[in-house]
Amino acid sequence: MNNLPRVNANGHIGPVDAAQVPRYAGAATFARLPRLDQVEQADVAVVGVPFDSGVSYRPGARFGGNHVREASRLLRPYNPALDASPFENLQVADAGDMAVNPFNINEAIETVQQNALDLTEHGTKLLTLGGDHTIALPLLRAAAERAGSPVAMLHFDAHLDTWDTYFGAEYTHGTPFRRAVEEGILDTEAISHVGTRGPLYGKKDLEDDRRFGFGILTSSDVFRQGVDEVVAKLRDRIGGRPLYISVDIDVLDPAHAPGTGTPEAGGMTSRELLEILRGLRGLNLVGADVVEVAPAYDHADITAVAASHVAYDLITLMGLSA
Ligand code: MN
Ligand code: MN
Repeated sequence: MNNLPRVNANGHIGPVDAAQVPRYAGAATFARLPRLDQVEQADVAVVGVPFDSGVSYRPGARFGGNHVREASRLLRPYNPALDASPFENLQVADAGDMAVNPFNINEAIETVQQNALDLTEHGTKLLTLGGDHTIALPLLRAAAERAGSPVAMLHFDAHLDTWDTYFGAEYTHGTPFRRAVEEGILDTEAISHVGTRGPLYGKKDLEDDRRFGFGILTSSDVFRQGVDEVVAKLRDRIGGRPLYISVDIDVLDPAHAPGTGTPEAGGMTSRELLEILRGLRGLNLVGADVVEVAPAYDHADITAVAASHVAYDLITLMGLSA
Protein backbone atom coordinates (compact mmCIF):
# COMPACT_ATOMS: atom_id res chain seq x y z
CA MET A 1 0.00 0.00 0.00
CA ASN A 2 1.02 3.62 -0.32
CA ASN A 3 1.87 4.23 3.33
CA LEU A 4 5.07 6.01 2.51
CA PRO A 5 6.87 7.42 5.53
CA ARG A 6 7.81 11.05 5.25
CA VAL A 7 11.46 12.02 5.69
CA ASN A 8 11.67 15.53 7.11
CA ALA A 9 14.32 18.23 6.99
CA ASN A 10 16.35 16.73 9.83
CA GLY A 11 16.49 13.35 8.11
CA HIS A 12 13.99 11.87 10.55
CA ILE A 13 11.16 9.71 9.33
CA GLY A 14 7.94 11.45 10.34
CA PRO A 15 4.29 10.44 10.30
CA VAL A 16 2.65 9.14 7.12
CA ASP A 17 1.69 12.20 5.06
CA ALA A 18 -1.99 12.93 5.70
CA ALA A 19 -2.21 14.70 2.36
CA GLN A 20 -1.28 11.43 0.62
CA VAL A 21 -2.94 8.79 2.80
CA PRO A 22 -6.08 9.63 4.81
CA ARG A 23 -5.60 9.63 8.56
CA TYR A 24 -8.08 6.80 9.07
CA ALA A 25 -6.32 4.43 6.65
CA GLY A 26 -3.81 1.75 7.46
CA ALA A 27 -2.65 0.00 10.63
CA ALA A 28 -2.34 2.30 13.63
CA THR A 29 1.03 3.22 15.01
CA PHE A 30 1.19 6.13 17.45
CA ALA A 31 0.55 9.33 15.46
CA ARG A 32 1.11 7.25 12.28
CA LEU A 33 4.83 7.30 12.99
CA PRO A 34 7.18 4.62 11.65
CA ARG A 35 7.69 1.39 13.54
CA LEU A 36 10.91 1.09 15.50
CA ASP A 37 12.24 -1.49 13.01
CA GLN A 38 11.80 1.06 10.20
CA VAL A 39 14.28 3.54 11.68
CA GLU A 40 17.97 3.23 12.45
CA GLN A 41 17.84 4.81 15.87
CA ALA A 42 15.00 6.42 17.83
CA ASP A 43 15.28 9.38 20.19
CA VAL A 44 11.89 8.47 21.62
CA ALA A 45 10.09 5.14 21.39
CA VAL A 46 6.38 4.82 22.08
CA VAL A 47 5.75 1.39 23.55
CA GLY A 48 2.59 -0.34 24.75
CA VAL A 49 2.27 -2.55 27.80
CA PRO A 50 -0.97 -4.55 27.47
CA PHE A 51 -1.17 -5.58 31.11
CA ASP A 52 -3.94 -5.08 33.67
CA SER A 53 -3.57 -7.96 36.09
CA GLY A 54 -2.75 -5.47 38.86
CA VAL A 55 -6.09 -3.67 38.97
CA SER A 56 -8.24 -3.48 42.10
CA TYR A 57 -11.54 -2.57 40.45
CA ARG A 58 -12.63 -2.48 36.80
CA PRO A 59 -10.26 -4.35 34.43
CA GLY A 60 -9.63 -3.53 30.77
CA ALA A 61 -6.56 -1.28 30.63
CA ARG A 62 -4.74 -4.09 28.80
CA PHE A 63 -6.52 -2.77 25.71
CA GLY A 64 -5.49 0.84 26.39
CA GLY A 65 -2.39 1.13 24.23
CA ASN A 66 -4.05 0.26 20.95
CA HIS A 67 -7.08 2.40 21.81
CA VAL A 68 -4.79 5.40 22.29
CA ARG A 69 -2.92 4.58 19.07
CA GLU A 70 -6.23 4.60 17.15
CA ALA A 71 -7.19 7.98 18.63
CA SER A 72 -3.71 9.36 17.89
CA ARG A 73 -4.33 9.23 14.12
CA LEU A 74 -5.56 12.81 14.24
CA LEU A 75 -2.43 14.26 15.85
CA ARG A 76 -0.66 16.66 13.53
CA PRO A 77 3.10 17.27 13.31
CA TYR A 78 3.28 20.87 14.61
CA ASN A 79 2.49 21.59 18.27
CA PRO A 80 1.54 25.28 18.42
CA ALA A 81 1.10 25.36 22.21
CA LEU A 82 4.82 24.61 22.58
CA ASP A 83 5.89 26.03 19.21
CA ALA A 84 7.65 22.78 18.34
CA SER A 85 7.57 20.02 15.74
CA PRO A 86 8.37 17.02 17.90
CA PHE A 87 8.67 14.53 15.04
CA GLU A 88 11.13 16.78 13.22
CA ASN A 89 13.27 17.60 16.24
CA LEU A 90 13.34 13.96 17.25
CA GLN A 91 13.15 10.57 15.62
CA VAL A 92 10.08 9.13 17.25
CA ALA A 93 9.00 5.57 16.49
CA ASP A 94 6.41 3.07 17.68
CA ALA A 95 8.03 0.07 19.34
CA GLY A 96 4.83 -2.00 19.44
CA ASP A 97 3.79 -3.83 22.58
CA MET A 98 5.76 -5.65 25.25
CA ALA A 99 4.72 -9.30 25.59
CA VAL A 100 3.91 -9.56 29.28
CA ASN A 101 2.54 -12.54 31.19
CA PRO A 102 -1.05 -11.81 32.30
CA PHE A 103 -1.01 -14.64 34.85
CA ASN A 104 2.12 -13.75 36.81
CA ILE A 105 2.56 -10.18 38.05
CA ASN A 106 6.13 -10.68 39.26
CA GLU A 107 7.20 -12.06 35.91
CA ALA A 108 5.34 -9.26 34.09
CA ILE A 109 7.19 -6.65 36.15
CA GLU A 110 10.54 -8.26 35.31
CA THR A 111 9.63 -8.35 31.61
CA VAL A 112 8.68 -4.66 31.57
CA GLN A 113 11.89 -3.70 33.38
CA GLN A 114 14.09 -5.75 31.03
CA ASN A 115 12.31 -4.55 27.88
CA ALA A 116 12.56 -0.94 29.08
CA LEU A 117 16.29 -1.39 29.67
CA ASP A 118 16.73 -2.98 26.25
CA LEU A 119 14.83 -0.19 24.49
CA THR A 120 16.78 2.56 26.26
CA GLU A 121 20.22 0.99 25.85
CA HIS A 122 21.40 3.55 23.28
CA GLY A 123 19.85 6.64 24.81
CA THR A 124 16.28 6.24 23.54
CA LYS A 125 13.64 7.73 25.86
CA LEU A 126 10.39 5.85 26.44
CA LEU A 127 6.83 7.07 26.31
CA THR A 128 4.86 4.10 27.56
CA LEU A 129 1.15 3.50 26.99
CA GLY A 130 -0.46 1.27 29.64
CA GLY A 131 -1.68 -0.93 30.89
CA ASP A 132 -2.49 -0.45 34.54
CA HIS A 133 -0.33 1.56 36.94
CA THR A 134 1.59 -1.49 38.19
CA ILE A 135 3.92 -0.99 35.23
CA ALA A 136 5.22 2.35 36.54
CA LEU A 137 7.44 0.50 39.05
CA PRO A 138 9.58 -1.41 36.53
CA LEU A 139 9.60 1.63 34.23
CA LEU A 140 10.93 3.77 37.09
CA ARG A 141 13.55 1.13 37.91
CA ALA A 142 14.79 1.28 34.33
CA ALA A 143 14.67 5.10 34.26
CA ALA A 144 16.69 5.36 37.47
CA GLU A 145 19.23 2.85 36.19
CA ARG A 146 19.65 4.78 32.94
CA ALA A 147 19.81 8.12 34.80
CA GLY A 148 22.43 6.68 37.13
CA SER A 149 20.56 8.08 40.12
CA PRO A 150 17.13 8.19 41.73
CA VAL A 151 14.74 10.25 39.60
CA ALA A 152 12.33 13.05 40.38
CA MET A 153 8.73 12.21 39.61
CA LEU A 154 5.50 13.99 38.86
CA HIS A 155 2.57 11.69 39.35
CA PHE A 156 -0.75 12.82 37.90
CA ASP A 157 -3.52 10.66 39.36
CA ALA A 158 -6.78 10.78 41.29
CA HIS A 159 -5.10 8.33 43.66
CA LEU A 160 -1.95 8.26 45.76
CA ASP A 161 -0.87 4.77 44.65
CA THR A 162 1.28 4.55 47.76
CA TRP A 163 -0.80 1.96 49.54
CA ASP A 164 1.03 -1.01 51.03
CA THR A 165 -0.78 -4.19 49.92
CA TYR A 166 -4.10 -5.46 48.57
CA PHE A 167 -5.16 -8.91 49.76
CA GLY A 168 -1.55 -9.34 50.77
CA ALA A 169 -0.24 -8.49 47.29
CA GLU A 170 2.64 -6.02 47.23
CA TYR A 171 2.70 -5.41 43.49
CA THR A 172 -0.56 -3.89 42.27
CA HIS A 173 -1.73 -0.73 40.53
CA GLY A 174 -2.36 0.91 43.91
CA THR A 175 1.13 0.35 45.31
CA PRO A 176 3.89 1.13 42.76
CA PHE A 177 5.13 4.37 44.31
CA ARG A 178 5.43 2.99 47.83
CA ARG A 179 7.57 0.18 46.42
CA ALA A 180 9.57 2.71 44.40
CA VAL A 181 10.34 4.77 47.53
CA GLU A 182 11.28 1.59 49.43
CA GLU A 183 13.62 0.61 46.59
CA GLY A 184 15.35 3.99 46.64
CA ILE A 185 14.74 4.72 42.95
CA LEU A 186 12.87 8.01 43.56
CA ASP A 187 14.52 11.25 44.61
CA THR A 188 12.29 11.93 47.60
CA GLU A 189 13.23 15.63 47.59
CA ALA A 190 11.37 15.95 44.30
CA ILE A 191 8.28 13.74 44.10
CA SER A 192 4.75 15.09 43.86
CA HIS A 193 1.24 13.89 43.26
CA VAL A 194 -0.99 16.17 41.23
CA GLY A 195 -4.77 15.92 40.94
CA THR A 196 -5.50 13.56 43.82
CA ARG A 197 -9.01 13.49 45.26
CA GLY A 198 -11.71 11.21 46.50
CA PRO A 199 -12.23 9.16 49.64
CA LEU A 200 -9.37 7.27 51.29
CA TYR A 201 -9.32 4.30 53.66
CA GLY A 202 -8.18 6.59 56.47
CA LYS A 203 -6.10 9.63 57.38
CA LYS A 204 -3.10 7.33 57.76
CA ASP A 205 -2.97 7.01 53.96
CA LEU A 206 -2.00 10.69 53.78
CA GLU A 207 0.36 10.48 56.78
CA ASP A 208 2.21 7.53 55.21
CA ASP A 209 2.40 9.33 51.91
CA ARG A 210 3.87 12.47 53.50
CA ARG A 211 6.41 10.36 55.39
CA PHE A 212 7.64 8.97 52.05
CA GLY A 213 8.34 12.54 50.94
CA PHE A 214 5.53 13.19 48.48
CA GLY A 215 4.20 16.66 47.96
CA ILE A 216 0.53 16.86 47.06
CA LEU A 217 -1.33 19.30 44.87
CA THR A 218 -4.90 18.01 44.89
CA SER A 219 -7.45 18.46 42.15
CA SER A 220 -8.98 21.10 44.39
CA ASP A 221 -5.60 22.90 44.69
CA VAL A 222 -5.34 23.02 40.91
CA PHE A 223 -8.81 24.55 40.73
CA ARG A 224 -8.27 27.07 43.55
CA GLN A 225 -4.64 28.08 42.87
CA GLY A 226 -4.69 27.89 39.12
CA VAL A 227 -2.32 26.41 36.59
CA ASP A 228 0.45 29.03 36.82
CA GLU A 229 0.91 28.72 40.56
CA VAL A 230 0.83 24.93 40.36
CA VAL A 231 3.45 24.94 37.60
CA ALA A 232 5.69 27.31 39.58
CA LYS A 233 5.54 25.05 42.65
CA LEU A 234 6.27 21.93 40.63
CA ARG A 235 9.19 23.48 38.74
CA ASP A 236 10.63 24.79 41.98
CA ARG A 237 10.58 21.33 43.52
CA ILE A 238 12.03 19.52 40.51
CA GLY A 239 14.82 21.89 39.43
CA GLY A 240 17.29 20.27 37.05
CA ARG A 241 16.88 16.71 38.29
CA PRO A 242 16.16 13.86 35.86
CA LEU A 243 12.37 13.75 35.82
CA TYR A 244 9.90 10.96 35.17
CA ILE A 245 6.23 11.85 34.57
CA SER A 246 3.54 9.25 35.21
CA VAL A 247 0.02 10.10 34.08
CA ASP A 248 -2.87 7.97 35.30
CA ILE A 249 -5.67 9.10 33.00
CA ASP A 250 -8.09 9.00 35.96
CA VAL A 251 -6.48 12.28 37.06
CA LEU A 252 -9.03 13.73 34.65
CA ASP A 253 -12.64 14.09 35.67
CA PRO A 254 -14.81 11.20 34.45
CA ALA A 255 -16.38 13.75 32.10
CA HIS A 256 -12.98 14.00 30.38
CA ALA A 257 -11.92 10.39 30.89
CA PRO A 258 -14.80 7.97 31.41
CA GLY A 259 -12.75 5.07 30.05
CA THR A 260 -10.80 4.09 33.12
CA GLY A 261 -10.99 1.56 35.92
CA THR A 262 -11.30 3.62 39.11
CA PRO A 263 -13.06 6.90 38.28
CA GLU A 264 -13.44 9.65 40.90
CA ALA A 265 -15.63 12.76 40.68
CA GLY A 266 -14.18 16.27 40.84
CA GLY A 267 -11.15 15.83 38.59
CA MET A 268 -9.11 18.11 36.39
CA THR A 269 -10.14 19.01 32.88
CA SER A 270 -8.01 17.86 29.96
CA ARG A 271 -7.23 21.56 29.35
CA GLU A 272 -5.83 21.96 32.89
CA LEU A 273 -3.69 18.84 32.56
CA LEU A 274 -2.28 19.88 29.19
CA GLU A 275 -1.62 23.42 30.44
CA ILE A 276 0.31 22.10 33.45
CA LEU A 277 2.37 19.77 31.25
CA ARG A 278 3.18 22.60 28.83
CA GLY A 279 4.38 24.64 31.80
CA LEU A 280 7.11 22.04 32.37
CA ARG A 281 8.99 22.95 29.21
CA GLY A 282 12.77 22.74 29.56
CA LEU A 283 12.84 20.32 32.50
CA ASN A 284 15.02 17.24 32.17
CA LEU A 285 12.31 14.75 31.19
CA VAL A 286 13.84 11.28 30.93
CA GLY A 287 10.72 9.13 30.58
CA ALA A 288 6.95 9.12 30.89
CA ASP A 289 3.88 6.93 30.85
CA VAL A 290 0.15 7.32 30.26
CA VAL A 291 -1.74 4.52 31.94
CA GLU A 292 -5.17 3.20 32.98
CA VAL A 293 -7.04 3.88 29.73
CA ALA A 294 -9.73 1.19 29.60
CA PRO A 295 -11.62 1.34 26.29
CA ALA A 296 -14.60 -0.79 27.35
CA TYR A 297 -15.84 2.13 29.51
CA ASP A 298 -14.89 4.82 27.02
CA HIS A 299 -17.46 6.68 24.94
CA ALA A 300 -16.80 8.35 21.59
CA ASP A 301 -13.06 7.90 22.26
CA ILE A 302 -13.18 10.74 24.83
CA THR A 303 -10.54 9.15 27.04
CA ALA A 304 -8.33 7.99 24.20
CA VAL A 305 -8.33 11.43 22.57
CA ALA A 306 -7.27 13.00 25.87
CA ALA A 307 -4.59 10.35 26.41
CA SER A 308 -3.21 10.71 22.89
CA HIS A 309 -2.86 14.47 23.33
CA VAL A 310 -1.19 14.03 26.71
CA ALA A 311 1.27 11.57 25.14
CA TYR A 312 1.91 14.02 22.26
CA ASP A 313 2.71 16.86 24.66
CA LEU A 314 4.97 14.59 26.70
CA ILE A 315 6.91 13.63 23.57
CA THR A 316 7.14 17.30 22.63
CA LEU A 317 8.54 18.07 26.09
CA MET A 318 11.18 15.36 25.60
CA GLY A 319 12.34 17.28 22.54
CA LEU A 320 12.53 20.49 24.55
CA SER A 321 14.31 18.97 27.55
CA ALA A 322 17.31 20.63 29.09
MN1 MN B 1 -5.79 6.40 39.65
MN1 MN C 1 -2.75 5.20 39.38
